[in-house]
Amino acid sequence: MMEPRAVSPHTPSIDRLIGELNALSQISAAEPPVVTRIVFSEADLRARAYVKGLCREAGLSVHQDAIGNTFARWGGTEPSLAPIGTGSHIDAIPNAGLYDGCVGVLGGLEAIRVLQELGFKPRRSIELVIFTAEEPTRFGIGCLGSRMMAGVLSPEQALALRDKEGRGPEELRSLAGFEGSLESVALSRGRFHQFIELHIEQGPILEKEGIDVGVVTHIAAPASMRIIIEGEGGHAGGRLMPGRKDALAAAAELILALEAAAKSTGAIDTVGTVGVCEVFPGAVNSIPSRVRLETDIRDIDEARRDAVIDRLQTTCKEVAERRGVSIATEMVNADPPAACDPAILNAMEHAAKSAGKSCKRMVSRAYHDSLFMARITPVAMLFIPCRGGVSHRPDEYASPGWIGSGVHVLARTLATLAS
Ligand SMILES: [Zn+2]
Repeated sequence: MMEPRAVSPHTPSIDRLIGELNALSQISAAEPPVVTRIVFSEADLRARAYVKGLCREAGLSVHQDAIGNTFARWGGTEPSLAPIGTGSHIDAIPNAGLYDGCVGVLGGLEAIRVLQELGFKPRRSIELVIFTAEEPTRFGIGCLGSRMMAGVLSPEQALALRDKEGRGPEELRSLAGFEGSLESVALSRGRFHQFIELHIEQGPILEKEGIDVGVVTHIAAPASMRIIIEGEGGHAGGRLMPGRKDALAAAAELILALEAAAKSTGAIDTVGTVGVCEVFPGAVNSIPSRVRLETDIRDIDEARRDAVIDRLQTTCKEVAERRGVSIATEMVNADPPAACDPAILNAMEHAAKSAGKSCKRMVSRAYHDSLFMARITPVAMLFIPCRGGVSHRPDEYASPGWIGSGVHVLARTLATLAS
């Protein structure tokens, strides 16, 4: 096998990649440097066209499925073998930065080009994947494209999704030019041989410890539960304290109960958050009659996470009874965690070592398309540092050196896996 040459921040390929990342960031619904690219928006479609153009320039053959997942293939010498996949997403939440997702897509392309320029000939094809709608902004569900690819979200379930304007994927995908049966989006196990996603850490560990790359062993299992509390409203002065059915006071108990339940596992990997608390009617002199809470509960151990959810549900019943309010819960999603493939982890660690890069095993607490790819193929993720752990903000930043190290390790790993 030919050894990929060192990719340093000073090599032209990194200048090329940084230039492309910057060019992609200019394709935004917001004023640059703020990146906003909602799936199937005009900015998303222009960004896709830009990246597909770069893939074609690199000699990759590009095709897309019925929901817009895009595959750009560098053919191997044994094209009948299942390819090695790499990639991520280019959609971005409102007011985002330019590295989340895009580093995995354009960095994956750069890794392919570096190998091409070295004259490396992969035995297995290497396929760059750009997933549709990793971010939940438009349809309220994350990883739309990879969920459908993995068969976790059925075409019927996908077709029932609506955005804030009441528009669904059927209308929007056809306006965007994606056609064909949604049934064909799901891929069989074995369609990919292995899959690797390069991504910024979105946490502070690598930068703080001065480590070049993180080798992700597990992707935490996210769950989201909606809680609707119905109490009784009334005048904040006129209604005395005895017999009140204050929906927000009940919600306060639940928020603290979730915090306590998440802490009670004693595991550092259990986290529980209430990120949304919507109070009705929301007037200073009115007793809250209705509250909506959106909770997020994650762990790398599914049973332990589900125990936290059970405990919260028990508290809901107890609080409802004691306070005389009604509490309804609805699981919005509860996905299993993914364990990354030991063979890919070893290949990544070996690649880091031969590239002279420091690396560390770690857990991804954010979810990614790889969580769903893990249902149909062995996966692993490669993290690079991001400044201050900041992500999903315009000041998100990864240095050319950090990106270069990630691409270098990715290129070496792809070369090993495709040989
Ligand atoms: Zn991402």
